[in-house]
Amino acid sequence: MLHLHDTLTGQLVEFVPRAEGHVSLYACGPTVYDHPHLGHARQAMTYDIARRYLEWRGYVVHHVANVTDIDDNIINRAQAEGRTESEVAIEWERVYDEAMAALDILLPHDRPHATEYVEEMVEFIEELVATRSAYVTDDGVYLRVRSVADYGALVHRTHDELAEGAGARVEVDENKEDPLDFALWKAAKSGEPTWPSPWGEGRPGWHIECATMSLALLGDGFDLHGGGDDLVFPHHTNERAEAVAAGRTFSRYWMHNAMLNIGGEKMSKSLNNFTTVQDLLDEDPLNGRALRLLLLQTHYRKTLEINPAVMAQAREGIRRLDAMARKAVAAGLALDSPDRDTDAVDRFTEAMDHDFGTPEAMAIVFEMVRHANRALDDESADAARYVGTAVELANVLGVRVEPSGGSDDGDGDHDDEEIEALVEARSEAKASKDFARADAIRDELAARGIVVEDTPTGTIWYRA
Ligand SMILES: [Zn+2]
Repeated sequence: MLHLHDTLTGQLVEFVPRAEGHVSLYACGPTVYDHPHLGHARQAMTYDIARRYLEWRGYVVHHVANVTDIDDNIINRAQAEGRTESEVAIEWERVYDEAMAALDILLPHDRPHATEYVEEMVEFIEELVATRSAYVTDDGVYLRVRSVADYGALVHRTHDELAEGAGARVEVDENKEDPLDFALWKAAKSGEPTWPSPWGEGRPGWHIECATMSLALLGDGFDLHGGGDDLVFPHHTNERAEAVAAGRTFSRYWMHNAMLNIGGEKMSKSLNNFTTVQDLLDEDPLNGRALRLLLLQTHYRKTLEINPAVMAQAREGIRRLDAMARKAVAAGLALDSPDRDTDAVDRFTEAMDHDFGTPEAMAIVFEMVRHANRALDDESADAARYVGTAVELANVLGVRVEPSGGSDDGDGDHDDEEIEALVEARSEAKASKDFARADAIRDELAARGIVVEDTPTGTIWYRA
């Protein structure tokens, strides 16, 4: 039984879907006006991995992710380039799709575009105005946030606690009754695309898009809503408030992935240190699979540090998987042998059922790789079982294993084993305080272009 950390309750809870055997999942998608960066990749991959795992567990998953194809950034870019908003959105959606495909991220089953659902959004807002949960002003329609009793539930804050924070940040807006209120509908400004509404021409706010499209496609009380933890407030808090104010049952579980650090600093607009997916892919052909491995080796709720050393280490992991596959194929084994190490599969399932424990799950995959390599060396009949298990469990998490891949170092498999033996010998020397020997081994490895690093979670090595 899957347990996950639910943002709303703040606890690890048992996941019981609305309909047995089915999971409805809504994950916030991109606003398409620029290259996707690694933060987009982490978000999309988190829910890709969750979906793949749930499907492997036998659930029928309905995965919806929106595309925001109208917003201030798209309008600004269109104006700067003298093009239409839809030209900009279509171009950057294609770039986004190509980047995600290169990362083996499955397409969601439904990808609603905001501009296709404006009529439904207008109906939603009309309902909120009719029940006095929303009010009309000169510049749009606003949600009366204090009409939603548990508005701050996702961030575990009261109205007043949130107002203190908002009051400090937001300028006083005379159109609003309360600083916490937010726009459901924005009255038309000149030069912007607009849609008709009972309150005049205008366009929807961002939060009403996701609230409308998730309920339209997945229905009331859908199972799981996900996104990056930067979306908890205000975006998800506001989506939820709209649904609650309309008397609808919104998502029953909430899951949020943590952010990224690039070279020791938080990836952010102010630091302008975004790394795009394309930059990473251009650097090394293995980086797409390596990024996935790196993400898997860090729990989704932990901040992930990305730097050249961890990417190099992740590429080594991918090479190790590919090398095992090469060796297995050379020994005449099929990679999809149905033979399984049931104990490893059980432990993998247990790890994943505990809030998608991918670091433990990947450790089990590499344990199978080690067993497989040894069994292949010994020409043992156990090899097929270990190879089959390693490949299947890697595939469950979306990690492709390619017998022809990652062999840029010739006889890579043999080389890797020799290096691992040396790294292990160095660790043993250190443990027995034979530092001269440990240093000598490190120097020998360095001469072969191998960097050894001692980290809090153990010794790692990679090709410099
Ligand atoms: Zn959203």
